[in-house]
Amino acid sequence: MEVWQREFITALLLFVAVAIVGGMTGLFMPLALAVTLGILVRQLFQINRFEKWIRAGGRAKYPKTTGIWEEIYYHVYRIKKNEKKRKKKLGKMVDQFRQSTEALPDAAVVLGANDEIEWANKAARDVFGLQQSDKGQRIPNLIRFPEFIRYLKSGNYNEAVILPSPVNHRITLAVRIVTYGAGLRLLLAQDVTELKKMERMRKDFVANVSHELRTPLTVLKGYLETLQDMDDGESPLLTTSFQQMQGQTERMQHLVDDLLLLTRLETRQKKTECVNIPALLIQICKEAETMNGKASDRIDLTLETNVHITGEEQELRSAFTNLLGNALKYSPEDSVVKIRWYRIADDIVLEVEDHGEGIPTADIPRVTERFYRSEVKRVKKVGGTGLGLAIVKHVLMRHDAKLNIVSELGKGSCFSCHFPAKRVCN
Ligand code: ADP
Repeated sequence: MEVWQREFITALLLFVAVAIVGGMTGLFMPLALAVTLGILVRQLFQINRFEKWIRAGGRAKYPKTTGIWEEIYYHVYRIKKNEKKRKKKLGKMVDQFRQSTEALPDAAVVLGANDEIEWANKAARDVFGLQQSDKGQRIPNLIRFPEFIRYLKSGNYNEAVILPSPVNHRITLAVRIVTYGAGLRLLLAQDVTELKKMERMRKDFVANVSHELRTPLTVLKGYLETLQDMDDGESPLLTTSFQQMQGQTERMQHLVDDLLLLTRLETRQKKTECVNIPALLIQICKEAETMNGKASDRIDLTLETNVHITGEEQELRSAFTNLLGNALKYSPEDSVVKIRWYRIADDIVLEVEDHGEGIPTADIPRVTERFYRSEVKRVKKVGGTGLGLAIVKHVLMRHDAKLNIVSELGKGSCFSCHFPAKRVCN
């Protein structure tokens, strides 16, 4: 039987007894009133005792009682006990999490909705020079680099921002913000000093080697031209050797030029001017036609907009020339290459489409890597350095633009450069 049923039956039996005794003595009403009052007083007493116990936190063992009140005490006591256990477990977890994040080699700072510091680990205190007392301070007041403040305000945290450490300028940090929860952000900073040093060494090495190769190459080319002029054509072996040598020196020249251009793109400060893209495209197409007589009927240029773009004309010229050159190079000599300059939604797009050999799907993400050349079976060997699309990618990155490649093996490729509307300047 349930406890409440027992309580109910006890009260019922009490009233039956009152009815019998009241019936015999004729004092039913006073007796019934006395019993009701008794029950009421008892319940009030119990409520008062319960309220006192719960007010004290309900932590102490509950007072001895019987019936439904014992049940109530027992259940509340059990809930409290479980809650205490859960709190202890949670506290332990938080402690463990704190200890592990404190031990992290990377800096981590939890930021609130107003850029205020909510928590920072030891690495963060070390590399940013933060103090325990900086909790609650706004981070832009403590890390004052303009590029960091711009990054923080931008809300676009897809990429990291590279900064020197405010306490030691020889330390380079890659700072990244990760958003989570409601308005909370985690700022992570990694020491990339060694990585940046290696990168700089690689860039310097490539730049120096390419530069140093230029002089001997020019000398070789000069002598080769003189020897070719002197060749009377009597020895076919000599003539073909000269031609092969010329082809190879030209290839090397392209390689050195492309490497130097890539180095310049990586190291040179951005210059900006308003570039007349339609005029530039007309010029590039004309040049391609002059360089390759067969190309004259192959290029179909459509200028759907007259938009000009803020950027570096020479860089854009290199990128577009590379795309057009590839389209002509990797497609049959009787096929058409379409170039379109148009505006769509928030983007201004340059599209170069060919009906050539296409690129295997697995190679598409890799063709913009340096020296990567797709291994497609070709009737005729196609020359190249494998640096053209790496140059395109770099140039576009410097112009906040994106390269999109759609290609199907045996059908053709479409390379599109998407410039953001903020770059429009006319
Ligand atoms: P490359 O000097 O070899 O042309 P790129 O960096 O310009 O170097 O291109 C890398 C590779 O991407 C090429 O070797 C080629 O396999 C592939 N590729 C580039 N453009 C096209 C295109 N329009 N059609 C088919 N394949 C292409």
